[in-house]
Amino acid sequence: MSRKVQEQQVDEIIFLGTGGARYVIAKQLRATGGIFFRLGGKNILVDPGPESYLRFLTYLPKFNPEKIDMVILTHKHIDHSADVNVYLDVITEGGFKKNGFLVAPADAFGKGGVVFEYLLEFLKEIKVIKAGLDIELDGLKVKFPIRHEHRVETYGFKISHDNYSISYIVDTKFFPELIDAYRADIVILSLLKLEPSDIDHLSVSDCENIIAGIKPKVAIITHFGMTIIRKGPWNIARALRTKTGVTVLAAEDGKHYEIKKLLSSG
Ligand SMILES: [Zn+2]
Repeated sequence: MSRKVQEQQVDEIIFLGTGGARYVIAKQLRATGGIFFRLGGKNILVDPGPESYLRFLTYLPKFNPEKIDMVILTHKHIDHSADVNVYLDVITEGGFKKNGFLVAPADAFGKGGVVFEYLLEFLKEIKVIKAGLDIELDGLKVKFPIRHEHRVETYGFKISHDNYSISYIVDTKFFPELIDAYRADIVILSLLKLEPSDIDHLSVSDCENIIAGIKPKVAIITHFGMTIIRKGPWNIARALRTKTGVTVLAAEDGKHYEIKKLLSSG
């Protein structure tokens, strides 16, 4: 019976936030709650930044957060991890139920980390991300191909399911290997800043290089800082589409993106 319910669930991506960086967090100009993937009956929460849990309840009012199958932290920066402990507490019912699966880089744990140590023993499974880590989740494959170049240990990932794949390239300096490592039908990119002056994040022209190199069916930009918001993410998405010939969307807070529609949008 429950299997039937799972089969009826539409595969989708929900942006619990599309903002990033200090000023956007402080003013909550865009939500900063990360991304929620509902694929093949599995529920994967990624990078729950500030206010993520509140956004989750708002954008998915009927979904029980205890049913989150996996929580991924791509890195420990506050705009990617602030609410992680709240979720782990909810998923484990405050420690009364051994539950939950946390995947994060080594520096997210222990001294200088962001995950409360007392919560770890409540979790059913923990995996430390290393380049090349492959996780199988009932038919879903989650791979962390290479480490990003960012101030702290950071990894993007690629999810493969049946006949489609989705990759998320998160905070990183541009380097050409990103293109081969994150080839997928749907590519999500963190685009924090307009100018290439920031060596720690992708710029608009870096995103152009990646999109032109991968040629996905659709690219989605997200994680906008102030310079992107001022310029208008949709204007940037449109310009990227003109330059690459690939459909590029600017993610919107709380919006549900159905995979089937994304794949046919090219
Ligand atoms: Zn970061």
